[in-house]
Amino acid sequence: MEDIDVVWFKRDLRLSDHAPLKSGIESSRRVLLVYFFEPSLITAPQSDDRHWQFVYQSLMEMNTRLSPYHARVHVVYQEVVPFFTHLANEFNIVHVFSHQETGIKVTYDRDKAVGEFFQRTGIRWEQFRQQGVNRGRKDRLNWNKDWHSLMLAPQLSCELGNGDFVTLSTEFLYGTGSLPIPAAWKFSHPSRQKGGETLAWKYLNTFFHTRISNYSSHISKPEASRKSCSRLSPYLAWGCISMRQVFQMAEKARTGGGSARNIVNFQSRLRWHCHFIQKFEMECSMEHASINRGFQAISKANDAELYQAWESGHTGVPLIDACMRCLITTGYLNFRMRAMLVSFLTHYLWTDWQKGANHLARMFLDFEPGIHYPQLQMQAGVTGINIVRIYNPIKQSKDHDEEGLFIRKWVPELTMVPNAYVHEPWLFPYLEANFVGFQLGEDYPFPVIDLEKAAKHARKCLWELQKLPEVVEDGKRILRKHTLPTNRWA
Ligand SMILES: Cc1cc2nc3c(=O)[nH]c(=O)nc-3n(C[C@H](O)[C@H](O)[C@H](O)COP(=O)(O)OP(=O)(O)OC[C@H]3O[C@@H](n4cnc5c(N)ncnc54)[C@H](O)[C@@H]3O)c2cc1C
Repeated sequence: MEDIDVVWFKRDLRLSDHAPLKSGIESSRRVLLVYFFEPSLITAPQSDDRHWQFVYQSLMEMNTRLSPYHARVHVVYQEVVPFFTHLANEFNIVHVFSHQETGIKVTYDRDKAVGEFFQRTGIRWEQFRQQGVNRGRKDRLNWNKDWHSLMLAPQLSCELGNGDFVTLSTEFLYGTGSLPIPAAWKFSHPSRQKGGETLAWKYLNTFFHTRISNYSSHISKPEASRKSCSRLSPYLAWGCISMRQVFQMAEKARTGGGSARNIVNFQSRLRWHCHFIQKFEMECSMEHASINRGFQAISKANDAELYQAWESGHTGVPLIDACMRCLITTGYLNFRMRAMLVSFLTHYLWTDWQKGANHLARMFLDFEPGIHYPQLQMQAGVTGINIVRIYNPIKQSKDHDEEGLFIRKWVPELTMVPNAYVHEPWLFPYLEANFVGFQLGEDYPFPVIDLEKAAKHARKCLWELQKLPEVVEDGKRILRKHTLPTNRWA
């Protein structure tokens, strides 16, 4: 049997600055490239077709770029172990190269099972570190320094022309039990970002050329941020571009005389990206339970009707509904609006963060478990170490969508409502409303809750919860584990 190596692509869908690919190309053996659409992951409650469309688009672009080298990424719709079992009947697999993955329980369990299989069969699995997250860390000592040195290290060049690639026949792939790729994944949604390395670089270049000029001033605005923020999140989440490539481009812009304030703000967010994933890497139970054990026994009202109104964007609170509907259609919202949606669900509607976690994961095109869960918990106020923010949706609306443009775009029922009432249509005087043909309760719902009463209740309860001895005690553990004594940015 022929000796071969395998490069297993995961959330790293690019052909540059890629340690596993570089190792595969430089190996003395022929190398097989593979990506798995795993049924167990596709059916996970956090998964949505939008994710797999993005991945499929990214893979197709990789394959177009690989074809001159008589190579391709084999796209397998099958679990990982059965594929390797079948492959091992045909080839002597020496090495499997991949990146480490900080993922949900499904991928954690899969990696454990795959690791056991490789060990049993004598296959050497080399997993490379991606984006500055360390495996096996116990605290954050020197984490910032370490992250910066990785970001400043030279990018890895992957000389495709030097590779000697294995290509498998379709019959072989179907012989592994692989399924046909669903037609839905080949579809491109007109309002969502499309996958691929080329588009990742296009977003990066246009950001540093022009869009960055309003980065800090527009970052909180639901409409303007769509243009002035980088919009790199799905490309970073699915690995169409490496964190180092983005960071180094920012460095180049900074040293080349670009707007220091905007660039430095942007670079801190790149570090936050990895900081949050590091947290999840070190405490993956955050997928299901509040990180602060003091909150684990506490359950909220969890009213199913209120939840439905939030999930579908029919709460009667214009900015909340606009954000949710926009997210459902486009897969994107800026940070503040994401935080506000979570705050509304967990504080105003007094619902546990876990109830909304899967829906948001499915809707975010950039779903990155290591950011998603720590951010959800931070906004839900269950860490015991962060200042709890209850975002007032009316204030957010007036501050960041003054003329209601974003609201009217996503909640067309409010088109006839003038600026003075678009944030709070329940204040629109009946006669005036009647005159423009708008009827609250008919055209658009009354708010599902009394906002002032709900905020007061949340403030009182959260304040009491934060003071519980078990919350305070576990907060100390979290600070020790996840932050530096001199740098309590959590
Ligand atoms: C409840 C909640 C869930 C979130 N879930 C995700 C998620 O699944 N995936 C995800 O990429 N981001 C998530 N974020 C963080 C943030 O909202 C997005 O990264 C950001 O809006 C993406 O837009 P951008 O690429 O234009 O960001 P930019 O402002 O241009 O920032 C550049 C990059 O920095 C990183 N980044 C920016 N803000 C943050 C932040 N606050 N925390 C961590 N990293 C950040 C992202 O990788 C982003 O692409 C979440 C935030 C909240 C409040």
